[in-house]
Amino acid sequence: MHAVGIVAAAGSGLRLGAESPKALVLLAGRPLVCWAVEALRAGGVTDVVVAVPAAERAAFAAALPADVVLVDGGASRTASVRAALAAITELGRPPVDAVLVHDAARPLTPPDVVARVLAALAAGAPAVVPVLPVVDTTVAVDDAGIVTGALPREPLRRVQTPQGFDRATLVDAYGRLPDGAELTDDAAVVQTIGVTVATVAGDDRAAKVTVAHDLALAELIAGTTGERASHGAPATEERNEPGVEP
Ligand code: C5P
Repeated sequence: MHAVGIVAAAGSGLRLGAESPKALVLLAGRPLVCWAVEALRAGGVTDVVVAVPAAERAAFAAALPADVVLVDGGASRTASVRAALAAITELGRPPVDAVLVHDAARPLTPPDVVARVLAALAAGAPAVVPVLPVVDTTVAVDDAGIVTGALPREPLRRVQTPQGFDRATLVDAYGRLPDGAELTDDAAVVQTIGVTVATVAGDDRAAKVTVAHDLALAELIAGTTGERASHGAPATEERNEPGVEP
């Protein structure tokens, strides 16, 4: 099974209070996007396409290994993944059976999570997401913030990335999704065409870095797994573009 990775890295750093795009914010001295690419590779996904903010392409090219393909992202995460998916079909590499879509904002995702997603796809799942149980009591509130009821916790799960898909299924779902549609993840995209989404165990270390506290926590965790911080090939002048053979 040939799986290609997509890293959605075209978001801003607004909620993190960063001036640069969030994916270029440093964690243990390396941009978040480099950690995310390395996480996919450590889990067995070698070919990676990264959706980046168009205006920051040069900075991403300088930060990432030269064999990572860059595409201009869009105004929403959905648009960014759509752009990266189109680039995969133009890669000109061996047929792609599966696609793993990962957030650059989840830098410390352990390789085991990636491997579990790949294994579920290899076993025949058309779509699979890593999930964690909900440990807090979870309630619904009205516009005034008044609790209207508690949700039963047992069937709820928090969904992480990378999310894995049969490539044809994901391409079909994005193809039928109206332009401008914005969904928060890719499992939601395939669910619009009725695809069954399986789950595998996620990991707390795959938490999303959204606000400054998350980054501080990630720094602590990276400190205990510091050997990975030295990974990552230096960027060179040679870079693969969609449609260009390596
Ligand atoms: O905003 P949020 O934290 O949900 O973003 C999740 C991921 O989607 C991030 O890694 C971010 O870089 C990416 N994203 C993107 N294009 C956008 C918005 C977000 O690739 N326009």
